[in-house]
Amino acid sequence: MEKTIALITGANKGIGLEIGRQLGRQGITVLLGARSLAKAEAAASQLQAEHIQAYPIELDVTDSGHIRSAAAKIEADYGKLDILVNNAGTYLDHEGNNTDVMRRTFEVNLFGAHALTAAVLHLLSASPAGRIVNQSSILGSVATILEDEMYASAAVPAYTASKAALNAWTAQLSIQLKGTNVKVNACHPGWVKTDMGGDNAVMEIDEGAATAVSLATLPDDGPTGGFFHKSANLPW
Ligand code: NDP
Repeated sequence: MEKTIALITGANKGIGLEIGRQLGRQGITVLLGARSLAKAEAAASQLQAEHIQAYPIELDVTDSGHIRSAAAKIEADYGKLDILVNNAGTYLDHEGNNTDVMRRTFEVNLFGAHALTAAVLHLLSASPAGRIVNQSSILGSVATILEDEMYASAAVPAYTASKAALNAWTAQLSIQLKGTNVKVNACHPGWVKTDMGGDNAVMEIDEGAATAVSLATLPDDGPTGGFFHKSANLPW
């Protein structure tokens, strides 16, 4: 049987590594992207020790050379890509409320996901069931931050704007891909105990990975162009 191939960005730790683990446990070959080859290799070794088909890929999503090389390697090795999880993310609002922080946050959270997706879209189209998952956040839900005081008070403008933009692009891409074999959805993992989520977060990493994993493995009659947490539709 033909192998199912998944590429996950920011897969050296946190939710991304766990997405790799959970997809790998389903027999999927997982390509673990990380900013440095050393980090990607360490993550791949960890999952290989758990009998998962995991391979490292050097992939800083802000580096066009890394993106080109990753796409070329996947094309040469497999000729297709079944699953892309744009999980890499950054949060810099603690550095200040200014345009430099906004720009650097967008570089990773939107431009990185966009550039990588553009580079591998032909490989996802070569899959019988291409799936793109954009790891967003409830803070990217404009409707939620306007209506819910808890999220309104978060005051993280760069992070919020970058995830709202990621959501808007997810919707746009789903329209572009309508009628093809490629589905694209965004998700909120929950407030998860990672380096980004912090120790006060309420969700363990395995639960935090679950929404992305389920969107990565959607059946052919599954949704596209949605924003989900678990099986619930979130407002844009
Ligand atoms: P972590 O900080 O644990 O992981 C973030 C990952 O992104 C790391 O692997 C990091 O690499 C990687 N990354 C950052 N910049 C780049 C880059 N330029 N290129 C490639 N990789 C990069 O956070 P989480 O696991 O919690 O976050 C994963 C995703 O989930 C993010 O998109 C985040 O916004 C989202 N999210 C998380 C929530 C939470 O509560 N934890 C809530 C809502 C959304 P490195 O180790 O090199 O820094």
